[in-house]
Amino acid sequence: MRNLLIALMAALSLLLSTPGSVPVSQAAAPDAVTVSVSIPVLCYHVVSTNPSGRYQLSLTKFKEQMAYLASNNFTTLSVDEYYSIMTLQTTAPAKPILLTFDDSTADFVTNVVPVLKQYNFKATQFAVSGWVNNPGYLTSAQLQTLHSAGYDIQNHTQTHADLSTLTYANAYAEVSSADSFITAATGKKPEFLAYPYGRTDVTAQTALRDVGIKMAFTVSGGKTTPADNFLSLNRNMVVSSETLSSFIKKVS
Ligand SMILES: [Zn+2]
Repeated sequence: MRNLLIALMAALSLLLSTPGSVPVSQAAAPDAVTVSVSIPVLCYHVVSTNPSGRYQLSLTKFKEQMAYLASNNFTTLSVDEYYSIMTLQTTAPAKPILLTFDDSTADFVTNVVPVLKQYNFKATQFAVSGWVNNPGYLTSAQLQTLHSAGYDIQNHTQTHADLSTLTYANAYAEVSSADSFITAATGKKPEFLAYPYGRTDVTAQTALRDVGIKMAFTVSGGKTTPADNFLSLNRNMVVSSETLSSFIKKVS
């Protein structure tokens, strides 16, 4: 009888276990739902009323995508909220998503922010410090205003160099110089970085860690989970050829 009971309980626990969840010991606290969380991170570049090339998305498509996220009850995250969920300090909300924009181009203020505001969406701008204050790019004053409005201004290096090709010293300089510039502009030290061209290696990751970067993003597709290497997190690029159905696949 006792053996039958044990067999029944074992079968029941097998039935109840969630496929794909990371096994944790019962004493380890975080529940299976939190541990198995997987969060899409989207990577945008220019959003334009007159787009050209792969990295310029039409404003019409962008509006359509944000409307989809809103009507399907996605929760956009700040980078700090994202970090807190990924380190299992906070339980994820329903349908969490991180929206990121690279290269500090001027359209972020003119085209992107008005749409984000409409839905009260949070977003992160990965700024190239050496491009800020140049024609076609955001200004230091705009970075400050965006930061005050609740947007995250984070690190995309000083010159948009491929960090995977640099020595430790040069990678450190690229990251720390952008770090100082953004800290001066916003008053908040960036702790998150997007790799230019999505490229990274062990040397770059060591330099990042030494500058104080907690998380860094590539553009390798796929979602992110707490089990990932936090200095090589996937982002899904949204490019000009995106259709609503291919977009839905990226966020679902
Ligand atoms: Zn870039």
